[in-house]
Amino acid sequence: MRQSPLVVVANRLPIDDSVAPDGAFEWRRSPGGLMNALHPLLRHTPATWVGWAGGTGPAPHLPDVDGVRLRAVALSGEDFRDHYEGFANATLWPLYHDAVEQPEYHRRWWEAYQRVNQRFAEAAAEVAEPGGLVWVQDYHLQLVPGLLRDLRPDLRIGFFLHVPFPPPELFMQLPRRAELLRGMLGADLIGFQRAQAAHNFAQLAAKVLDLPATDRRIGVGDRVVRIGAFPVSIDTAEMGALAARPDVADRARRLRQDLGDPERVILSVDRMDYTKGIEQRLKAYHELLTSGDVKVRDTVLVQVVVPSRDRVAQYQVLRDRVEHQVGRINGEFGRVGEPAIHYLSQPFDRTELVALYRIADVMAVTPLRDGMNLVAKEYVAARVDGTGALLLSEFAGAAAELAQAYLVNPHDLDGLKAALLAALRAAPDDVAARMRAMREHLSRNDIHTWAGSYLSALEETALVTRRTRVG
Ligand code: UDP
Repeated sequence: MRQSPLVVVANRLPIDDSVAPDGAFEWRRSPGGLMNALHPLLRHTPATWVGWAGGTGPAPHLPDVDGVRLRAVALSGEDFRDHYEGFANATLWPLYHDAVEQPEYHRRWWEAYQRVNQRFAEAAAEVAEPGGLVWVQDYHLQLVPGLLRDLRPDLRIGFFLHVPFPPPELFMQLPRRAELLRGMLGADLIGFQRAQAAHNFAQLAAKVLDLPATDRRIGVGDRVVRIGAFPVSIDTAEMGALAARPDVADRARRLRQDLGDPERVILSVDRMDYTKGIEQRLKAYHELLTSGDVKVRDTVLVQVVVPSRDRVAQYQVLRDRVEHQVGRINGEFGRVGEPAIHYLSQPFDRTELVALYRIADVMAVTPLRDGMNLVAKEYVAARVDGTGALLLSEFAGAAAELAQAYLVNPHDLDGLKAALLAALRAAPDDVAARMRAMREHLSRNDIHTWAGSYLSALEETALVTRRTRVG
């Protein structure tokens, strides 16, 4: 087995299987944000990506993709059900998102979580060069840093959590809370989206494990673990270039015509997830239609909902509720050829998505809780003409950076209605000034800045560990 100085460990490999036009089966790089972020770094160092390739058979041997080596980890149907759908997405996901749905605790899921994390740690241990750097991603793999350190104490290990990290009173519900914290603390550097998350983590390390902890460093035996906020971002320049392409501008013009050239277009783009606040937003819109503050002929709402995790029970129930709600609103307020809501329950490719961003006078991003929300950042980057109002939930990680958005508490229905109206009716000067500030921020804080600053902080931890003590 070839070894690499840099190893990324993530639940999924950055590839999709597909059938080429000539009928041959092939693996293609998938357009995921993480691969885009890391690609410039991975290309310049011999790097290996450890992850699941999809499918429940034995792990396939995969060719390199764009110069990155791939090491597949096998998952059985039971692993997928109990680790991915179970512990990751029906225990941790709801718990980490303010428990907006009830987290489920099952001992069988925890066993699967341990087993699968062990398999990922063993794969990473095999492919990492002596003294190499391993970067573990996200909530599916929180035990990997600790397990990997046991196997390979020579490695420098980073962990980044893409989702929120909850306050102690929620995290304390977890039956295996100490093990999860210890797993993460196997890393030299733990990165979060927001400073608040690092603070929550430090409090828990002190409370549950009795460790000396500040919001920057935690002492674990003779090691020092650094923690901090590294807000993830997008490839701002690439998004801008795509939005400026003449074919995308043409497509946007046609889309607007197809919508009947309304005065105002409101757009929302969400995965079908109970964290996204879809029902609250639709309820607010329904009330604005009922009161006559918004009229179907002048204003069009386009709601894209990408189907997601549709084997998990809570997601099936949500989908039924949202579709019922959309049906009711369209039944009550639509006219022939003029639905009140253009509801699109399908994934779009980037070009079509960016054309949609270009026609949105108001982009409504109102999750109840979200680690970051990349859609909000993509919208700003796509507004190459400097117009467009972003309505953004205070509970999205993006709100910590995009303070010039029209910020809103999505639980406050009247506040949501008022903010939506404010964004719809805002003076063009105000909209442009806010957009300018947000575009400025994103041009300086893009995905390359994120990956670069995280990895240099991780490289520095070797020095910090030798020099500092906590407490
Ligand atoms: N996205 C896409 N096609 C769609 C809808 C969304 O490619 O039809 C992409 C979108 O561009 C963004 C990502 O999916 O990069 C969603 O990321 P976000 O952080 O907003 O939410 P998440 O789904 O990770 O909770």
